[in-house]
Amino acid sequence: MSTKRNNPETIAIHGGDYRSDPATNSVAVPIYRTTSYQFNNTEHAANLFALKEFGNIYTRIMNPTNDVLEKRIAALEGGLASLTVASGQTASTFAILNVAQAGDNIVSSTDLYGGTVSLFTHTLSKLGIEVRYADPSDPKNFEKAIDDKTRAFYGETLPNPYLRVFPIKEVSDIGRKYNIPLILDNTAAPVICKPIEHGAAVVVYSLTKYIAGHGTVVGGALVDGGNFDWTADPKRQPLFNEPDASYGGVVWGKAVPELTGANVAFAVRARVTLLRDLGSALSPDNAFGVIQGLETVALRMKQHCDNAAKVVEYLKNHKAVERVIYSTEHNEEISSRAKKYLKNGNGALVGIELAGGIEAGKKFIEALKMFYHVANIGDARSLAIHPATTTHSQLNDDELAASGVTPGYVRLCIGLEHIDDIIDDLDQALDRSSKGNLKAVS
Ligand code: PLP
Repeated sequence: MSTKRNNPETIAIHGGDYRSDPATNSVAVPIYRTTSYQFNNTEHAANLFALKEFGNIYTRIMNPTNDVLEKRIAALEGGLASLTVASGQTASTFAILNVAQAGDNIVSSTDLYGGTVSLFTHTLSKLGIEVRYADPSDPKNFEKAIDDKTRAFYGETLPNPYLRVFPIKEVSDIGRKYNIPLILDNTAAPVICKPIEHGAAVVVYSLTKYIAGHGTVVGGALVDGGNFDWTADPKRQPLFNEPDASYGGVVWGKAVPELTGANVAFAVRARVTLLRDLGSALSPDNAFGVIQGLETVALRMKQHCDNAAKVVEYLKNHKAVERVIYSTEHNEEISSRAKKYLKNGNGALVGIELAGGIEAGKKFIEALKMFYHVANIGDARSLAIHPATTTHSQLNDDELAASGVTPGYVRLCIGLEHIDDIIDDLDQALDRSSKGNLKAVS
């Protein structure tokens, strides 16, 4: 069902083609626990394999439960197609492998999730794909790093620990001059940011976080914006312009628009080559779990953000807090990006530097009673973590410094509890952890 007004609250429930299950009229999306699908006849089977017709073949590559989720996510983002995969890590891996091969490079923001840094710096380099890092505080840094082998720009909308909103249009505009697509990880900002509207060609999600939203499912998605011409510069995007020996010599950039009538070459290629070969499919059970979360994501994001804004005000006035890190708490230029790219909320991730450094950070985490101490974001529950000893512990000192993690940094992910209860818990933990560590009161 399409809606005239494009409201995320409605799309998250009704988006995509699904009204009720065609076989049973079930209103809830059924979990299709099947590996395979009977072909109508040999011609039908041949057509499906030759991509002359689209339909179900095998659940590693497509599944009707996942299909509803994919259509809904694409609709929510304003994209043309999407592909769900086993995790957010798979989504970022696929996003790069779909455009780059050995000998190529991508230019990535330095502000990234720690797992993405490991993937880029260690695993992709072993596959022969170089990742060049650019500081996003100045978008021109992306342009400076380009050469003939650059296949994509990569960034995160709202990356922790710095929580500086990515200059989406600025970097996308640079990329478009060179036919380089911007791939953006929007995990921390669903609904409040729509990167495709600002020029991103591909959006990547860890569905594990806010979209599923309850800390119960691991999943990922890639969204094809349908707004990038993969054939404009064949040398720039060889994987879309040269015959693919693994698929009977098909040229993806040309064949997909001809077959589908839509600019969805990115999504189709990722599905029928990478998912076929690497096999990291999202299980239909997990797709069902994500669909339940997705239905309330717009409401939850609003409440997460409202609570976080109140927490920021509280923390800014607390004597034990040296500094509050939040999307709107930067210099004017960086804070203005939050205004430009985030709507109806500024995110639910909040960083704090405690006056007592690493010891105060540890004591604070241990003193929290309601907040969970976990390596996750985007749960209904409020969460806290000390990145230097956990999520970012596999980074070396240089990588750690570049990522902005200081020893005393604590990341809070503000949940959906009543704001008074959230602040009570922070208050008692700050009191207990700050004895003797208070900053001078100005
Ligand atoms: N991207 C971001 C911004 C993340 O925070 C995470 C996980 O924390 C990922 C990607 C990876 O997602 P997953 O844990 O679903 O593999």
